[in-house]
Amino acid sequence: MAQHFLLSAAARTLNVRQIYKAGEDAAYETFCKLRWAETDGEPVCPDCGCLDAYRITTRRKFKCKAFHHQFSVTSGTIFASRKLSFADLLAAICLFVNGSKGRSAVQLSRELGVQYKTAWVMAHKIRESMQDEYEGRKVSGEVEIDGAYFGGHIRPANLREDRIDRRRARHQTGTRRVVVAIRARKGRTLTFVTPTEADGVDLVARNVLPGSVIFADEARHWDHLSRGFAMGRINHEESYSNLAGMHTNGAESFFSRLRRMVAGQHHFVSPKYLHQYATHAAWLEDHRRESNGDLTMRVIRNAMAAPVSRVFKGYWQR
Ligand SMILES: [Zn+2]
Repeated sequence: MAQHFLLSAAARTLNVRQIYKAGEDAAYETFCKLRWAETDGEPVCPDCGCLDAYRITTRRKFKCKAFHHQFSVTSGTIFASRKLSFADLLAAICLFVNGSKGRSAVQLSRELGVQYKTAWVMAHKIRESMQDEYEGRKVSGEVEIDGAYFGGHIRPANLREDRIDRRRARHQTGTRRVVVAIRARKGRTLTFVTPTEADGVDLVARNVLPGSVIFADEARHWDHLSRGFAMGRINHEESYSNLAGMHTNGAESFFSRLRRMVAGQHHFVSPKYLHQYATHAAWLEDHRRESNGDLTMRVIRNAMAAPVSRVFKGYWQR
């Protein structure tokens, strides 16, 4: 039997021991090189684009020669007001991407020896930087769609009869939401959080390019999509996806990961953050064949390109 990818040497190219052994300066250089890739890590003023800067080495700050703008490698990025050292930050991201079913803030705070709040904000910022890869993306080709209920602590079952009961129970609490997944077989997994699965119809119509083939289960609301797309429908009561190509296995694999993430790491998920966890699970699915070193660099590269977090900047100071 082929070895599972995560067990192979190719999957682990970075670990916490290497990060701390290399030290703070090496970690800092990693951030500089990823932020300023075009200049091989030489500073570029974020305000004026000036390439000449004085170095205030003691504080790891720069001052541009043109206008004396002060900046650092994280200025204007999601990690701008960071509390962690660069080595800690790098280790945090490495540990975070290592969690193939997610990683809770409690766990991260223990591993890094930092306050829960610090780990919590860090985790959400890392998820934001994953989210950036999905902004404005659409998918095409063979696309699998599905929806699943999340919220509360009753584990939803596959059987339709059970789902209907759960629906009623959940409606009373107001915390139940549906995650709609739109997964291209050769591409990305787009995720949305909506009140009902039927809301997914419009989301599919807007985010799947014309000419695509859509695979969905027998739920009636998806019927509307047959006006705009060629469709393959799967009847789960008759068989589990045995006709060649007639399945939504990719979408189900995503939901399986998200369920394990919610049940095993977060235990409870508020509707407010469900979308973040969904994106995190989608990102892990979409990059599941990449090494953990590549995943870590990917997160940093995204983060260094992204503006200051709107949501989580100074979250606990409010
Ligand atoms: Zn400047």
